[in-house]
Amino acid sequence: MYLIILGPPGAGKGTQSVLIAQKLGIKHLSTGEILRQAVTESTTLGLKAKEVMDSGNLVSDDIMIGIIKEAISDESAKKGFILDGFPRTIQQAEELDKIMDSLGYSSARVINITLDDNELIRRMLGRGRKDDTAETIKNRLNVYKEQTAPVKEHYSKKSAVFDIYGIGSINEINDRILEVLK
Ligand code: ADP
Repeated sequence: MYLIILGPPGAGKGTQSVLIAQKLGIKHLSTGEILRQAVTESTTLGLKAKEVMDSGNLVSDDIMIGIIKEAISDESAKKGFILDGFPRTIQQAEELDKIMDSLGYSSARVINITLDDNELIRRMLGRGRKDDTAETIKNRLNVYKEQTAPVKEHYSKKSAVFDIYGIGSINEINDRILEVLK
């Protein structure tokens, strides 16, 4: 099973992806985590990505597509995966479709977590990550609306996108997701 989890920053994509991956026995691939790990280790990628991330902007499509291509081609991803944080632009979505086609994978199912801005901001401020300052959050929400929200339309045109309401306990939301995947 190949899954994509979409939704604004702070919607709980990471939390839900970990649970879904455990329950379905598929691989969790978080581009945010891959990038943060690279920053911590000061790799070439990390050095390039750090400032972009701290300002709430997006790392370039070329870099991200390279990362995802390598990750989903890996043996450990063949059985299935849940992509968290990717695709974040239309170009990333189009490239992902091509890569999946070329690997012979069936098309991905898409989960879209919805939440209002006030709740997103409240959660991100509470999380206290380095890119969770008031100003950066505002920018990330704008970037989301301009560049990432269209990704949902991209998938709505070709397959089912399941909207999941993101308010409730972690388990409640997880049950909502598992229910639509049945
Ligand atoms: P959140 O879940 O709060 O949106 P992530 O952990 O997914 O945050 O991502 C953190 C940051 O990493 C983003 O703001 C962006 O700078 C960078 N990033 C992650 N995934 C991508 C991607 N697919 N394309 C471009 N930049 C990305």
